Amino acid sequence: MNSAHLPTPLADVLIVDDEPNNLRLLSTLLNNQGYKTRSALSGEVALKAAHSTPPDLILLDIAMPGMDGYQVCDRLRKDSSTCNIPVMFISAKDRAFDKVKAFAVGGVDYISKPFQVEEVFARIEYHLKLYRLQLKIEEQNIQLQTEICQRIEIEKIMVDQNLQLQQEIEHRSKIEVELQQANAQLALTNKELEQFAAVASHDLRSPLTSISAYAQLLEFRNLKRLDPESIDYLEKILKLCDRMNLLIGDLLSYAQLNQTQEPFNPIPCKAIVAQACENLATEISQNQAEIIYGDLPAIKGAESQLVQLFQNLIGNAIKYRREESPKIHINAQLKEDCYLFTVKDNGLGIADKDREEIFQVFKRLHGQGKYSGTGIGLAICRKIIERHGGSIWIESQLGEGSTFYFTLPANPSAM
Ligand code: ADP
Repeated sequence: MNSAHLPTPLADVLIVDDEPNNLRLLSTLLNNQGYKTRSALSGEVALKAAHSTPPDLILLDIAMPGMDGYQVCDRLRKDSSTCNIPVMFISAKDRAFDKVKAFAVGGVDYISKPFQVEEVFARIEYHLKLYRLQLKIEEQNIQLQTEICQRIEIEKIMVDQNLQLQQEIEHRSKIEVELQQANAQLALTNKELEQFAAVASHDLRSPLTSISAYAQLLEFRNLKRLDPESIDYLEKILKLCDRMNLLIGDLLSYAQLNQTQEPFNPIPCKAIVAQACENLATEISQNQAEIIYGDLPAIKGAESQLVQLFQNLIGNAIKYRREESPKIHINAQLKEDCYLFTVKDNGLGIADKDREEIFQVFKRLHGQGKYSGTGIGLAICRKIIERHGGSIWIESQLGEGSTFYFTLPANPSAM
């Protein structure tokens, strides 16, 4: 029969006995039961066989010439490749002393001759089961050890990462504190600057009024005596005084924006836009401008500042017009927690590179000669919007009109 078709033996048993008859008998019995057996007629042969291919169990006689069973068992236990193989002694010796010695050298069982076949099978089966369990436990132990090592490794990595994270958090907290300090310092500086600008522009106004008054007086008193060139100079002085007065006035309103005591109230934006248009009535009719707006939401804010915001934007849309008469569309739509407003015109438009700069104080793209103004209007708009918790930006193309976008918080619960 081909060995591939042989049934798998129950176990590999090494039988050691110097009596060939005993060997044959035990081999036959075990083979019939389904075990694979190997035989050794001496201790030395048994040790070699066990070392080269460790069996699952050894049946070992005690009294043998040369090396006896105890010595064989002792040597087996000292060899790492055979130390765990269960050794069952089979012997005619039946004294308690012999049995004790058998267990002392590492035997797992002791069967006295003559033996009961069934009992031998039962004991062999029992020790094989124990041995296999032991092997399994050892295997699981190794697995467990590997797993523990892996976990320790992972834990180490996690501790390292935690440490890094901690350091990062500390670093960020430090930066945050520094940022807060810098912000506080900036706010203070801003406030000081605003106060300075307010005081300076206020104090500049009175000497300017005097200069203008004296120039007018000079002109009035000497109108007949002065040559045309001198009168022209005086006119220029007066014009420049007016211009300076305008600049100081705008600078003052810019500086005072944050100092106003005006409370924030719920205000319908439609009324605000209507008011702004009323204030611009002359410009609107002179330019035949059309201001188109439908329903606009109510928002919470300082009324006079919101009027100024729309007035500046509509006023600019009219001022920086093209040939065709100005058409200005005003809309608003709800975006999550804020309203997005748009003020769209069909005017001159601005180049991409100037989109940010136009919100700076005194920044003007169009010359004083053709367009009046101080360059503070949009800076005021930005400040008003920021005070109300929003932001402002522009999208435009030169020669194709502009759209100013700004957000204002939608806070219906506060209405
Ligand atoms: P100004 O007093 O000069 O109008 P603003 O701060 O209101 O000052 O505007 C700054 C500059 O931005 C203006 O001088 C103008 O060049 C440009 N600008 C503002 N609004 C518009 C607009 N709707 N279309 C084209 N250019 C504009």
